[in-house]
Amino acid sequence: MPKPKPKYDFNKLAKRLRRNTAEAIVDYNMIEDGDRVMVCLSGGKDSYTMLDMLMSLSRSAPINFSITAVNLDQKQPNFPEHILPEYLQSLGVDYHVIERDTYSVVKRVIPEGNTTCGLCSRLRRGTLYGYAQEHGYNKIALGHHRDDIIETLFLNMFHGGSLQSMPPKLLSDDKQNVVIRPLAYCKEKDIESYSVQKAFPIIPCDLCGSQPNLQRQLTKEMLQQWDVKHPGRIESIFRSITNVKPSQLADRKLFDFESLSVDRADAVDTERDEQVLNWMPKSSLTAEVTSDLTAG
Ligand code: SF4
Repeated sequence: MPKPKPKYDFNKLAKRLRRNTAEAIVDYNMIEDGDRVMVCLSGGKDSYTMLDMLMSLSRSAPINFSITAVNLDQKQPNFPEHILPEYLQSLGVDYHVIERDTYSVVKRVIPEGNTTCGLCSRLRRGTLYGYAQEHGYNKIALGHHRDDIIETLFLNMFHGGSLQSMPPKLLSDDKQNVVIRPLAYCKEKDIESYSVQKAFPIIPCDLCGSQPNLQRQLTKEMLQQWDVKHPGRIESIFRSITNVKPSQLADRKLFDFESLSVDRADAVDTERDEQVLNWMPKSSLTAEVTSDLTAG
């Protein structure tokens, strides 16, 4: 069998990512006619891929929606300010760069040597949400993908004692913003390979010198090992969070275990069947049993 050409492979990959994105958008009704979508662009592979997918789908979708790419310049040392504007101008997409020095805040508040990502992300989220509200964007698109969602699920189980992750669509706590994750069905491996082939101008997130989040890294490695050793397991885990059965878990807030009581409807039916049988001539009963056996 001849090896497929790289171009063909790339087209297949792009098509799969577009399809996964469109499926997630439709399944969760993420984008509606007239929406103003603010696409959060960090300069990493995920957000570049998301922007590509949304731009492509906005040309073919049966509805009209607008896209604005928004980047937050957090004033990290050595942040290459020119990269994103140049790239976005080359795409011809509407964009805006917010400048806010959250870097100094994080450095001031978090003791040296501790991981700063938690506070940094919270500040970033707050700034982006505020910008969306102020400028009338009614959807905020974030680039988290399927593997981020699964990692978060395990992190919350391992360290938070709760069964929760990042939903594909979310109303922010203050109910002022709707957050969407159009890449929720996309695999990180696909995004990675798409990003390499598209040669996106990646800006690393660790310019600030923060330690990587060790627990997330360990969880990621665990999942990657499972993926190699047990193909299909990651897909099954993701399917499981779309197929939750509260009565088969143990959360008393989600299912009313207290009021459970026996339902004798079936038993009554059996009793009735027996009564009916008592009325039947014995010969017809034998014939019924025989025909049942033949049919089986
Ligand atoms: S690596 Fe640095 S910039 Fe990136 S989230 Fe963590 S603290 Fe923020």
